[in-house]
Amino acid sequence: MRARVRAPRNEWGRRGVTATEVTPELLRRLLPLQEADGEIDALRREIQAVQAGEPWREAEGRREEWARRSEALARRRQALERERRQAELERRAAEDDARRLAARLEGGALRSAREYESVERELAAARRRAGDAETAELVAMEELDAVGREAESVGRELARAEEALRRDREAAFGRLAELEARLSAAEGRRARAAAGLPAELLAAYQEARRAGRGLGVAELHRSRCRACGLELPAAFAERIRRGRLVRCENCQRILVPAEPSGDPAAQADPT
Ligand SMILES: [Zn+2]
Repeated sequence: MRARVRAPRNEWGRRGVTATEVTPELLRRLLPLQEADGEIDALRREIQAVQAGEPWREAEGRREEWARRSEALARRRQALERERRQAELERRAAEDDARRLAARLEGGALRSAREYESVERELAAARRRAGDAETAELVAMEELDAVGREAESVGRELARAEEALRRDREAAFGRLAELEARLSAAEGRRARAAAGLPAELLAAYQEARRAGRGLGVAELHRSRCRACGLELPAAFAERIRRGRLVRCENCQRILVPAEPSGDPAAQADPT
């Protein structure tokens, strides 16, 4: 029965778990159970983090940054190449014009000085256009050189970032196999620790664990809770001896005797 019967504030055991069922030895078996559960939780979190790609997120971010820079440079390169070709076409057209006009001047077909001067002006203008286009062509080529050098260095960085990402992913997946092996070992330990524990004791433990965010059990050493350090009335230890499930008044964890009762070493322990 997991029904939440309202129990006295710090005590279960009047119903369900009876005094004969919950011996200090049984209570102490909650400790390895809790240890195994804690390990299982931590391993599952780590496995989830690997599955979500967390271990290589940083390397992925760096790779993406270099890839973005590399793509921006490639776009810049294309634009410059278009500019260079456009300037080249303009230069060639202006040079053709200049050749044609020079031929006209030299051809002797011009009838007047006025016509001659007009062709001369056109020729001068065509040569200027050719010169301007050539300058634009050279500027684009110089920029292309610079962008090419930058693209090379960014390409090397990108390759390095890709390699780092590959290594991080490989390491994480290698670790995943190890984590899964450790998880199944911890689950085995958990099953052994839980075997034979009364169902009501397990249910109370689970409930305390949920409430305590993963920690449900604390040792009671003499009359001090080892989890939170609170000094509890001596009656608590007595209630535990009588087979009651008792919670710490402060941290609400199920209290477990620090050593099997009657163990003289425990009584002599000064801590
Ligand atoms: Zn406590």
